[in-house]
Amino acid sequence: MAAEIIDGKAIAQTVRDEVRDKVSAMRAATGKAPGLAVVLVGERKDSQTYVRSKKKACEEAGIASFGTDLPEDATEEEVLAVVAAYNADPNVHGILVQLPMPKHIDEERVLSAIDYEKDVDGFHPLNIGRLSQRGREPLFVPCTPRGCIELLERTGVPIAGKEAVVVGRSNVVGTPAALLLQRRDATVTIVHSRTPNPEEICRRADIVIAACGQMEMVKGSWLKPGCAVIDVGINAKDDATKKRGYRLVGDVEFETAKEVAGHITPVPGGVGPMTIAILLQNTLEGAERAFGQ
Ligand code: NDP
Repeated sequence: MAAEIIDGKAIAQTVRDEVRDKVSAMRAATGKAPGLAVVLVGERKDSQTYVRSKKKACEEAGIASFGTDLPEDATEEEVLAVVAAYNADPNVHGILVQLPMPKHIDEERVLSAIDYEKDVDGFHPLNIGRLSQRGREPLFVPCTPRGCIELLERTGVPIAGKEAVVVGRSNVVGTPAALLLQRRDATVTIVHSRTPNPEEICRRADIVIAACGQMEMVKGSWLKPGCAVIDVGINAKDDATKKRGYRLVGDVEFETAKEVAGHITPVPGGVGPMTIAILLQNTLEGAERAFGQ
């Protein structure tokens, strides 16, 4: 039997509606609203597109958006000065520095300069450190991995006591996803580029989160029947039937995987829409803390 498709677009819309309702209740009660500041350095077209869609999503949710665009040749000190100004601004509850930044800027230094109480991307060492410690609570959790967990939970896929495999160990997706699953009492294995037997390990999993940036690597034959598959990957695959010459596919081979899995996210329309929805949710939560709500 083919898998149930997890509709990330619909779930993301639900999250966005919830955020919008809470923001309007906050405005009514306090006269204040959450604010998100986005810092963009350079002229990368993809980054400009991401920043535009984040600002539009803020508007739709009633979140105030602030932005600073710096030129490609901006110095690290200039970027740090912008971050410092937003750190001090009481109308800003989340600061996001769009990555990647130009090579001459030390990303780690810039990300660590963001006040961890406004670290809406959850990349600050203090937030990641708290995420990895039992009994500690991070103020923010990275958006894409939190989105993966929301998809599982809102679909009713049980996590506690289950065997989970995360394919990929980046700071942005794989590692925080594994920590989140572990905090929800899954038994977690991380597969990475030096793992010799990824198929064998994946076949044990009740939950697979694929975030390895390798087009369609995880096949149906790698999966345990009935498992839940969350595909984070975004890859452009040549497709002459499409106007633009390609289509988007994930890190999972959808056609074979959907015949084996119990639940699966499509690409596009799975994890992608969740990332922005969670960014809005994180910003709202930052504002709630700042207003003592
Ligand atoms: P990175 O390139 O930073 O990390 C990839 C990870 O996958 C690394 O840990 C790497 O291992 C591992 N890996 C690479 N090749 C293999 C392999 N053959 N077998 C097993 N593991 C392998 O990528 P990201 O984590 O940033 O992103 C992962 C994917 O998710 C990409 O397709 C990206 O486009 C997508 N993405 C989607 C988002 C969304 O909103 N939907 C947001 C962010 C990313 P090692 O550590 O050993 O090098």
